[in-house]
Amino acid sequence: MNTNKILLQGGCVVTMDEQFTVVKHADVLITGERITAIQPGINADDCEVIDASQHIVMPGVIDTHRHVWESVVRGRAGDYSLMEYLQHVLGPLAASFRAQDVYTANLMGALEALNAGITTLFDWSHIMNTPDHADSAIAGLKDSGIRAVFGYGTPGTSVWDWFYESRLTHPTDIERICRQHFSSADQLVTPALAIRGPEYSAFDVTVQDITLARRLNLPISMHIGCGTFAAKYQAVPQLAQGGLLGPDMNMAHGNYLTEADFKHLADQGCSVSITPEVEMQMGLGFPATGRAIAGGLAPSLGVDVVSGVSGELFTQIRMALQTERALVNDQELRHGEMPQRVSLTMADALKWATINGAKALHLDRKTGSLAPGKQADLLMLSTDALNLSPVGDPIAAIVSQANVANIDSVFVAGKAVKRKGQLLYPHLSSLRQQATRTSGYLVEKALMTSLASV
Ligand SMILES: [Zn+2]
Repeated sequence: MNTNKILLQGGCVVTMDEQFTVVKHADVLITGERITAIQPGINADDCEVIDASQHIVMPGVIDTHRHVWESVVRGRAGDYSLMEYLQHVLGPLAASFRAQDVYTANLMGALEALNAGITTLFDWSHIMNTPDHADSAIAGLKDSGIRAVFGYGTPGTSVWDWFYESRLTHPTDIERICRQHFSSADQLVTPALAIRGPEYSAFDVTVQDITLARRLNLPISMHIGCGTFAAKYQAVPQLAQGGLLGPDMNMAHGNYLTEADFKHLADQGCSVSITPEVEMQMGLGFPATGRAIAGGLAPSLGVDVVSGVSGELFTQIRMALQTERALVNDQELRHGEMPQRVSLTMADALKWATINGAKALHLDRKTGSLAPGKQADLLMLSTDALNLSPVGDPIAAIVSQANVANIDSVFVAGKAVKRKGQLLYPHLSSLRQQATRTSGYLVEKALMTSLASV
């Protein structure tokens, strides 16, 4: 048997191509890293055959904005506003991280994502306290087997120095990191620059940071349009005026951007990451999903921080979709009209978490939908569970009903990372113990730092 070939046999295949094609009984042939055929009745000779009947086969979902290092401080920010989060999580907690803690956190956080069917994520890593922290973050991502864009951010050593209208330019260790870790563009983990942008650093610092990214040919991501910072710092008008916007830019949040701002971003080919759960919690504003679409953007989704919110995308998909519907319905209700139709579709929402995410990360030639030639990043959802059976519309089943417990198998670049409901990472229990020790250490250290500063 040629183990280079895997045949997922007889599944309900949700491709997420342009036409939202669903093939109710089809085989998916994986050869090495790639999908090589999707059709019924593929010859199974010299393939490892996996029975995909009673399963939905779909693209791996894509998280375009996540601070993976916060996995070991899970749940600590569940009652925080953005201002409290900046003060406590990006304050003493971030400063307490040792390089080995970042390794544990990134490995644990990336495995958590894989377990939840997230095959690709953007790791917005603002815990670059030393060069060792950067190396550890990258090692954690690589050891997990996930596809990731590593967004090299600023140190977490002082939120006062590095955020809040910071005058410090981005660390240039990124040049060494690119040489040392990212010599090929054809790897699972690729680099980007996670800059603070006009809402968290002085504008001339932003200009220098963008110049650094473009000199190194790195994609750029920043937080923008967060609550009252949008009106205060006028980030998009300033960037537009400086001729700085471009298709290499990803903007997280955008809650309080104006119609004109969204048009500027769309005209210049920028992407946007909506992280609905944390935005509504922390006071960034309502998710801007509908306004971004109206402006001509194709939204993608992210978890942002598991220190505050849930770490999987089913929740984010539902929150983004239903919040947007509620906002549109509310307009009609306020005019004394009962809504006759709802806005957006479940297929639209699934697109945000799949192909739109791939486009936002410039990875759509590789991932984000199922098609021959693409990398085999995919999931099998078991449909015999009570919450999915019987399946009527498979896209509706994914968007409105599915949860992490339904994920039977996950493949990244043709390699199984989860099978029969279990992650294949071999040292899960010792990693969990390490994460618990790390978390205890960090919380105690941060508390001592806080007390010492009183
Ligand atoms: Zn963020």
